Amino acid sequence: MTDTVAAPAADLKNQAEFFGHPKGLRTLFFTEMWERMSYYGMRGLLVLFMTDAMMTGGLELTVITATSIYALYTAFVYFMGLPGGWIADRLMGSQRTVWYGGIIIMCGHIVLAIPNDKTFFIGMILVVLGTGLLKPNIGALVGQLYSASDVRRDSGYALYYMGINIGSVIGYTVCGYLAQNAGWHWAFGAAAIGMAFGLIQFRLTSDSLKGEGAAPTQPLTPAGARAAWAVIVGFLITLAVLAGLLISRTFSIDPVVIARYTAVLFVLLFFIYFGGIFLLGNLSAVEKKGMWALLVVCIASAVFWSGFEQAGSSMNLFGRDYTDRMIGTFQIPTTWLQNANSTFIILLSPFFAAFWVWLGKRMISPAYGVKCAVGLIIMASGFIIMFFAAHIAASGMLAAPYWLVMTYFVHTVGELVLSPVALSAVSKLSPKRFIGQMMGVFVLTYSIGNIIAGIFAGNFDPENVAEMPGLYMQIVKVSVILGIILLLVGLATKKWETEVQSAKSSE
Ligand code: GLN
Repeated sequence: MTDTVAAPAADLKNQAEFFGHPKGLRTLFFTEMWERMSYYGMRGLLVLFMTDAMMTGGLELTVITATSIYALYTAFVYFMGLPGGWIADRLMGSQRTVWYGGIIIMCGHIVLAIPNDKTFFIGMILVVLGTGLLKPNIGALVGQLYSASDVRRDSGYALYYMGINIGSVIGYTVCGYLAQNAGWHWAFGAAAIGMAFGLIQFRLTSDSLKGEGAAPTQPLTPAGARAAWAVIVGFLITLAVLAGLLISRTFSIDPVVIARYTAVLFVLLFFIYFGGIFLLGNLSAVEKKGMWALLVVCIASAVFWSGFEQAGSSMNLFGRDYTDRMIGTFQIPTTWLQNANSTFIILLSPFFAAFWVWLGKRMISPAYGVKCAVGLIIMASGFIIMFFAAHIAASGMLAAPYWLVMTYFVHTVGELVLSPVALSAVSKLSPKRFIGQMMGVFVLTYSIGNIIAGIFAGNFDPENVAEMPGLYMQIVKVSVILGIILLLVGLATKKWETEVQSAKSSE
């Protein structure tokens, strides 16, 4: 960005009231913080709960079934961002979509709190539907607080990202503690309470958004809206019938097979949706250039998360099985290692927020694609550490915990260079009337990353530890090569980004 010009003083969007940012950022920060508390609090326990014995309150599923359900759950949570973005743009506006999304998430966690195996999957479906409505649209709203020429956009997203991770730490800690000391369903209940805090806070302070996202950006005609609602209701009825049949075990599905097909389907859908907006969205020449720049960002994001999301799978198992977690007589719980990422984000975020502002002030503003490619390469280099750690494990010894912690540190630096920056890029480069849908398309890259990471983690064979270093090296090679290609392409996109910004500033 070359955007160092401040918007006019009269511009309400420029009111600085939350760490130098518009007041609306506080509303979005805390709503997303609580939503992520509920999401990660529950997600951190999901595989453990599903594989736990029935005697101790679990579902007693096999590890492969549980990890496939986990991969499908995390993938669908983000996949539903596509319809969620569309509903905001065309039917309800982002504010109302976020609100109802939050209510559905809260209901999902309340259902999960009921100690009944059959209702468990209904709770999960509700969280998937609600997150699809909330996640892309709250991300889009953040960007709408800033005018096109406002230099604070990137640091605003960095701050917002910090909120996401404060929420994760609260979730992992509170829900993890309750699961261990009170029972699984108390932990799921705590997630519902967290989301309720987020909703109350959103309702009480949403006027600070100053009407941003109050109405759809591209409303349908009344007849079109009626047809859309009919389709939505039809979809929900079909889903309810399918869920009923599954729960009553009228038919069954193999989550392992479904996970593989889902990965292919999501990659195809990404290109179809992105291509659809590009070709059929009546975009101007400048808007199309912005879309090309965004494509680089989205590809970098999908590859990044495919590697990064090993944290919940292969690296989690590495922490449990091949890491010496004893400090004297105390054994570090495996889940604590998971917290390292969020904790590093919280510690490092202020530095990154300041770093982007510092760079911006010096007129050093790499293209978004370049930043994301660098983030991807940093993430890949983290796996070089895992390559060495895996060698230790392959030689039959336990690796020291600092190997994982160092990897998480490097991954977190990569995440901070890519993830908040990518969100900012989507908010800035997308054609304004498609903002919700473009955020939905972007969130689909999380989905693709999660499902590919899950499938890749399936290659880690506990019976064949000798293969592990090679598998980590494979991630390094693929990600570095793709990172370099994207970096070179990203260099070319800078001038397009500048054109988009000038066009938006003069709107
Ligand atoms: N931690 C980030 C969030 O929760 C990114 C999640 C992801 O899987 N990409 O928003």
